Amino acid sequence: MSELAYPYEAPASQALFDRAAAVTPGGVNSPVRAFRAVGGTPRFMVSGTGPYLTDADGREYVDLVCSWGPMILGHAHPEVIAAVQEAVARGTSFGTPAEGEVALAEAMVERVGPLEEVRLVSSGTEATMSAIRLARGFTQRTKVIKFAGCYHGHVDSLLAAAGSGVATFALPDTPGVTGAQASDTIVLPYNDLEAVHAAFAAHPGEIACVITEASPGNMGVVPPLPGFNQGLKDACAANGALFVSDEVMTGFRTSRAGWYGVEGVVPDLMTFGKVMGGGFPAAAFGGRADVMARLAPAGPVYQAGTLSGNPVATAAGLAQLRLLDDAAYETVNAVSAQLQGLVTEALAKEGVAHRVQTASNMFSVFFTDRPVVNYEDAKAQESFRFTAFFHSLLSSGVYLPPSSFESWFVSTAHDERAVQRIADALPAAARAAAEATA
Ligand code: PLP
Repeated sequence: MSELAYPYEAPASQALFDRAAAVTPGGVNSPVRAFRAVGGTPRFMVSGTGPYLTDADGREYVDLVCSWGPMILGHAHPEVIAAVQEAVARGTSFGTPAEGEVALAEAMVERVGPLEEVRLVSSGTEATMSAIRLARGFTQRTKVIKFAGCYHGHVDSLLAAAGSGVATFALPDTPGVTGAQASDTIVLPYNDLEAVHAAFAAHPGEIACVITEASPGNMGVVPPLPGFNQGLKDACAANGALFVSDEVMTGFRTSRAGWYGVEGVVPDLMTFGKVMGGGFPAAAFGGRADVMARLAPAGPVYQAGTLSGNPVATAAGLAQLRLLDDAAYETVNAVSAQLQGLVTEALAKEGVAHRVQTASNMFSVFFTDRPVVNYEDAKAQESFRFTAFFHSLLSSGVYLPPSSFESWFVSTAHDERAVQRIADALPAAARAAAEATA
């Protein structure tokens, strides 16, 4: 890494990082926040407004992470903040049912056709963990198919060949996951239906479900090839397994009804998080009423949570969903398309081999000239170019995910000024990518 990659210091962030490292493993509460893949000091943010984040050193960044997806209306949207303030004033947790959780569930069911019933939880990890348990309980089978490069949270059985931080840090396996848990997980290459058919043939009557990201964003953006998700659904139906579509990232982001709204493939179970929580810890799983009826207290599959359906989180999520009308999605899609064009233009001008891949308004840049359809393709990119690109943009006040295996996210708040800041920063970043060496 050349000196030029760090054109300025971040003393206040560094001091906080040093303090954090003394009391927290690696100094962060989620590995993807560390700058380990790109080097340098993680920026400690103190505030966010619209498309901007401000760090502890007082520098402002255009945010292309958006809290890894949730902040689709930008930071501190006045109506979301008002809903939160109103909810907080009425108390922060009751440990009883409350109307807010009903209203949020109703709003979700109204938007997403296949979602007949919903159970609220507090994180995407809980949502996928519970969906897998329910699928196993419903089918009375043990094995689960997942795809390499897809991330479904840090559920023991789903960490094998996972994307996101597991990909960023190139972790082959995670100590602490037992052989039994891992052996019930069948990991297949993404976008490969033949492999799915072969797995069903090899394990007749054993596979409880296939879980997939509805459109993966955790190995960078790698959308399903036409017919892939429908093929999964059909293979599951033919073999008595459930099709679980993980919409934690895509849900209420890629359209009003998430990736289901884009593609129309009907899953048996779905998982949600991020956007539906409006920046608070709220997530959900749901789907077919006959499957959800197996869940406690209606049925025998146990699942619970002290803070599930928290009144502040549900108020934030409901306020955000109500603001996400067709015009909002048009705005986010247009900003995303504009940025994709600007990135392509800048990198092409410098002759940098790259592919911008998209899934509705989610997109990411791979430093390769070959199409990326699975995790092997994603890993084959020249990630060292991303490192140079990332630091150049950071030094110009543009905050990208600190990994080449993540989606970039925009919001309705990314206005002309924010886009111009990115446009101004891109030529130097493209040059840095062109000049980078492995
Ligand atoms: N599923 C997908 C597709 C995700 O992208 C994530 C998180 O990034 C999760 C599940 C886990 O969600 P959480 O981080 O809220 O546990």
